[in-house]
Amino acid sequence: ATWAREIRRSAAPRRDGGLSVLVTGAAGFVGFHCSLALAARGDGVVGLDNFNAYYDPSLKRARQRLLATRGVPVLDADINDAALLARLFAAWPFTHVLHLAAQAGVRHAMRAPQAYVASNVAGLVSVFEAAARRADPQPAVVWASSSSVYGLNTDAPFSEDHRTDRPASLYAATKKAGEAIAHAYNHIYGLSVTGLRFFTVYGPWGRPDMAYFAFARAVVAGDPVTLFADARRDFTYIDDVVRGCLGALDTAGKSTGSGSSGKKKKKKSGPAPLRVYNLGNTSPVPVARMVAVLEELLGRKANKRVVAMPANGDVPFTHANVTHAARDFGYRPTTSLEVGLRHFVEWFVRYYKIDNANAASTTTTSAAGKPR
Ligand code: NAD
Repeated sequence: ATWAREIRRSAAPRRDGGLSVLVTGAAGFVGFHCSLALAARGDGVVGLDNFNAYYDPSLKRARQRLLATRGVPVLDADINDAALLARLFAAWPFTHVLHLAAQAGVRHAMRAPQAYVASNVAGLVSVFEAAARRADPQPAVVWASSSSVYGLNTDAPFSEDHRTDRPASLYAATKKAGEAIAHAYNHIYGLSVTGLRFFTVYGPWGRPDMAYFAFARAVVAGDPVTLFADARRDFTYIDDVVRGCLGALDTAGKSTGSGSSGKKKKKKSGPAPLRVYNLGNTSPVPVARMVAVLEELLGRKANKRVVAMPANGDVPFTHANVTHAARDFGYRPTTSLEVGLRHFVEWFVRYYKIDNANAASTTTTSAAGKPR
């Protein structure tokens, strides 16, 4: 009963026309930031997360505590718990689901393949099923796909209609499967589904398993940093991605007058078709450059080892074309890697109480006096 009361209080929007959003993976990096942003503008938000130990659960708990101070509860729950999802939808008529819970990480899929199938395929079905069966209102679902679906594509920048039939990892394959599953739910139940292909999202409260975060830790600890030669990434700052997610939620279920692929036939009536958008930064950067920026911000030199990229699921480069997201909900990334990493390092040194870090808070950091 207290559980249901809490949901009703938190899920109710505090502004006219506000959304009422169930955020899965709310204790995760992107879910945390999106939940904060939704709550800040007066939307109702309820989160859920299973707090798994893929990376430090205490970071997820810290995000949960911060969200609680903003009136956003994050329930301990697994998306595969269909009964729980049904109870949630019975307790509150959510208008939107922002589905971000997933097993992330490309390389870990070689160690724990079933975890990817469980969360990214079975769990995704569980969320779509609960949403599709909830009538009046049937919530619009916006969920995280990934730039990894472009796999071994080389015709960058990647547009949404480029080939996605050559995934280079099981992670990518499950994300690609998610897009096919979304299409089926849209077709059969008329479920409004919008997929967002994120491109290497980074920032404060980020994921310790991601390269920029792991490199920052290694630089501080003096541990070796292993770089893959020639790797380039379209690093995208979290605030830009959050704006994209909110824009996608605001337009979900509404006709945009154009499809994401530009290929679809315009229907006179019936549900809006599946929409899929890139949310990237449109300017790929060598990973070596990312390390150089971190060295400068941390005031320490990395102990670098450059190796050829192994066949571990990583792709050589990513590069987003975001014209469809710009057209349909005004998405425009504005944060350079230098600025975004500065925000990350400021948070990083504070959160981990790192002494002796240089200049995380100075705006223009000179490289003078620092080994390079
Ligand atoms: P994250 O791991 O920080 O967040 C995912 C959250 O989902 C975690 O807190 C985890 O505990 C939770 N979760 C996992 N399986 C669950 C389950 N079965 N039930 C309930 N909760 C579960 O990752 P993130 O970086 O915030 O990513 C969010 C989404 O965006 C994911 O779908 C991810 O695949 C996708 N994505 C992220 C990036 C990126 O660069 N961060 C890039 C492309 C796609």
